[in-house]
Amino acid sequence: MKKRTKIVATVGPSCDSLEKIEELIAAGVNVFRLNFSHGTYAYHAQMLSNIREAMKKSGLIVGVLQDISGPKIRIGDLNNSFDLRSGDILEFVKDDIVGYMAKEGHYKLSLNQKEILDKLEVGQYIYLYDGIIRARVTKIKSNSVYATLENDGVLSSKKGINFPNTRINVEVLTPKDRADIEWGVKNGVDFMAISFVQNAQDILNARAIVEKNGGNQMLIAKIEKFDAIENIDEILEVSDALMVARGDLGIEVPFYEVPNIQKMLIKKANIASKPVIVATQMLLSMTKSQRATRAEISDIANAVLDGADAVMLSEESAVGEYPVLAVSAMFETIRESEKEYNYHKFYNDMYEDATNAIDEAAVKLSKDLNAAGILSLTNSGSSVRKLSKYRPSKPIYAITHNSVVRHQLTLSWGVIPLLNVEKTSIAQVLRDVVTQGIEIGILDKNKLYILTAGDPTWISGSTNMIRLLRRDEMEFFKNLNEDF
Ligand code: ATP
Ligand code: MG
Ligand code: MG
Repeated sequence: MKKRTKIVATVGPSCDSLEKIEELIAAGVNVFRLNFSHGTYAYHAQMLSNIREAMKKSGLIVGVLQDISGPKIRIGDLNNSFDLRSGDILEFVKDDIVGYMAKEGHYKLSLNQKEILDKLEVGQYIYLYDGIIRARVTKIKSNSVYATLENDGVLSSKKGINFPNTRINVEVLTPKDRADIEWGVKNGVDFMAISFVQNAQDILNARAIVEKNGGNQMLIAKIEKFDAIENIDEILEVSDALMVARGDLGIEVPFYEVPNIQKMLIKKANIASKPVIVATQMLLSMTKSQRATRAEISDIANAVLDGADAVMLSEESAVGEYPVLAVSAMFETIRESEKEYNYHKFYNDMYEDATNAIDEAAVKLSKDLNAAGILSLTNSGSSVRKLSKYRPSKPIYAITHNSVVRHQLTLSWGVIPLLNVEKTSIAQVLRDVVTQGIEIGILDKNKLYILTAGDPTWISGSTNMIRLLRRDEMEFFKNLNEDF
């Protein structure tokens, strides 16, 4: 098995060609993220088609995550990137303009939500680009607000801007978000990430739009607000996965609290058998450099050891100079970290239901009998996600008849969603699994596998058996005739 922790990579101008997408898949990307804060529908449709084409060519399954932008306040377009120095002035104007340098050290630009300018007061902080650039309000004029920079930095079009001391009441789902969710359902994305979630209702509202449009996407709550931390239990209850969105989070709460919050969120998601992604600045220096810093490599390793299902790249792959190198660096770091991993997590007595108990027992058996892997028949994906919770050292091969579920398992730790079978009886499924598995080189006839399934097959939540598959059983199923 190559690696267990999954890699999510954001698509953007640096990696949007078919060839680059293929290279990224080969380097270890499991899920591509389309960030709906940037790019047009036409652009994202082209990306989807490239991803699907690359997937076919590679023979591997990857997932597509649509990131719904939410009410993020952003600066407008700039005619050129601003090369800012401490002490320079940013003048935020109330008109819609393309930002430009008015004179040396004085830049004019606009915001996507101009109402905010009326709420600012002299002395308040303004953070730009995930807090990398900081400024302070120094002057309020009738048609603009002046802020003076407190550090150096490069600012480009549409970067996020935060006002940590200013209370801004906004709807989590904007009209654009609603339209984007409809687009995502129509185009069959696998996951949707909802930004700036504050409580369970925000996720339920998004879910209602998805369902109204006939979708069954997994919904990922991006945890990046103070309120979301306060309400984490109710949010987790109604979400299918979490993202530790450290960029905005590190501005909403004191930056030094982010590591503990990350660990808390991972632990809660693990216990609930829901995938959790650690995101933002994981390899930021590789946007411009061929080598990561030691601190970045440690950050990835620690996220893996904390128990993340996936780690994510943002600008590193979207606009960076070395997208493939960044994925490779992540891949190598994950693989090395997994040598020291705390496999076979047993939670004792924390069974929500029979599937949990069976899955834990299957993982224990795989360890005691040194199995080569665990095969699991799944209808909705939930039994496989529960298996993943116990972090077996051997791969989990998900077997399903449902191609949506197959793609949604790309985000789950240790799961290889490779096999696709007909919706038939257990004996016929096993015949197909053994034949296909040996054919594509996943199953080795001379090794032992553990199988979990429900019999009768394909009823959600019906996992009721564990079975050993050894040489003799494999021969038997392989030779079953068609009308068994
Ligand atoms: P979020 O708060 O959702 O993380 P972000 O603006 O930080 O939003 P990321 O996807 O984290 O976005 O970072 C990617 C960066 O790459 C963006 O800040 C943006 O400047 C740049 N970019 C340019 N074009 C694209 C594109 N089509 N897709 C994604 N990112 C793009
Ligand atoms: Mg964010
Ligand atoms: Mg970001």
